[in-house]
Amino acid sequence: MQQEPDKSGNLILKELHGHFHVIGDVHGCFDELLALLQKLGYEVYDDSKTGKYRVTPQEGSMAVFVGDLVDRGPNSPEVLRLVMDMVEQDVALCVSGNHDDKLYRKLMGRNVQVRHGLELTVAQLENYDKAFIDRVREFLGHLPHHIILDDGRLVVAHAGLEERLHGRHSKSVRDLCLYGPTTGELDAHGLPVRLDWAADYSGVAVVVYGHTPVREPRWKNNTINIDTGCVFGGKLTALTYPDHILTTVDAFDTYAESIRPFLQPTAH
Ligand code: MN
Repeated sequence: MQQEPDKSGNLILKELHGHFHVIGDVHGCFDELLALLQKLGYEVYDDSKTGKYRVTPQEGSMAVFVGDLVDRGPNSPEVLRLVMDMVEQDVALCVSGNHDDKLYRKLMGRNVQVRHGLELTVAQLENYDKAFIDRVREFLGHLPHHIILDDGRLVVAHAGLEERLHGRHSKSVRDLCLYGPTTGELDAHGLPVRLDWAADYSGVAVVVYGHTPVREPRWKNNTINIDTGCVFGGKLTALTYPDHILTTVDAFDTYAESIRPFLQPTAH
């Protein structure tokens, strides 16, 4: 099974069952990702003969990345190399995050602002050859905006997705998957004010997402935010589905300062 979007640019794998380890925003935290995968029972071997990582999960398991593989952290290229090899070997799926999309547009030669950690990724990629950069561009350009698993009972999208849009494809659905709904206003930090779509969610499907750092994984109405801000000195989190087990690795360092403080827990 290759990770290819269908003709609509979407990726829907409803028939795929098993244990899914949904992994939050990695942002170049390669060492923490390795530690998390090992904790989850994946064997990771860097095969110098083939130049590829060979990754063996426990029988019936598969990783699903919520996106934002890159930017701000110490080693975005190795995160990309590992995740690309895992996807190629059918042991992982990955949706696009806003940072992955911006790197893609940069690699396509588009005029993007090289900041918010993208400047680090661009510098790190200077040590890699053209073949690798081409592979990264191809990979990022084919990432779906959301993935549906387990007969529709599990939905993974970087910024989450309200129920009526599950399985839908349009530019606005894609934008919502990558950026989430915003009010159109800017907050005191000059960043777009994000709307809490999960507060209104009443769907049956479990929606797993990242995008907005939280101190602790946050369940709300059958949705869970697992971006626990590893790159900001928090931790990297995986949710095992369908068991709803949380596995975490504490950040080994604080690699970036968060402009916006971690989202505080809200009463609900
Ligand atoms: Mn992120």
